[in-house]
Amino acid sequence: MLDVELEPEDRKIIVDAIRDIPDFPKPGITFKDISTILNNRTAFCTLMDHLEERYEDMEIDFVAGIDARGFIFGAALARDLNVGFVPIRKKGKLPYTTISEKYALEYGVDEVEMHIDAFRGEENPRILLIDDLIATGGTASAAASLIQKAGGNLIESCFVMSLDFLGGKEKIEKFAPVYSVLGEK
Ligand code: AMP
Repeated sequence: MLDVELEPEDRKIIVDAIRDIPDFPKPGITFKDISTILNNRTAFCTLMDHLEERYEDMEIDFVAGIDARGFIFGAALARDLNVGFVPIRKKGKLPYTTISEKYALEYGVDEVEMHIDAFRGEENPRILLIDDLIATGGTASAAASLIQKAGGNLIESCFVMSLDFLGGKEKIEKFAPVYSVLGEK
């Protein structure tokens, strides 16, 4: 099966909708603000239509989205694919029994969690992981690890964009193929 890639004119619509915020949340970081994709119906629909087209024949059972912007794209895509959505949350937010995975930050550690029964006891469910952006890959790798711990079969990790100079893509590629909709941004 051929991978569905983004058409250049559609890529431009989405790229143009992203707002760069210099020095947020701290000096030296350029924050990629995707709220300006969400409030732009052409850009949001172009992106979601593309994701639906790419994944509709991949027999995905669950879309797992990373806290918090991965929830928005992930839940919309799960609805489009007519499958369930699983939130992978920052520590302490999920109310039922969780499994968790720690990952290193520049200073210190962080942790992501998933409900232990998130895949509803299905055998070897096919999972698509999604987030808005991959930077160092720490968060996504921890999420991929959680999916595997819970018995999920990670089919692909999908990001709207990747900051390739930080090497995150190589890290997460160890778990499953990676698709960055816009490539490097
Ligand atoms: P990382 O674990 O370093 O790959 O960081 C990825 C997570 O942090 C994702 O959930 C992103 O939403 C967020 N993130 C990291 N860097 C940026 C950035 N420059 N702009 C927007 N979000 C970012």
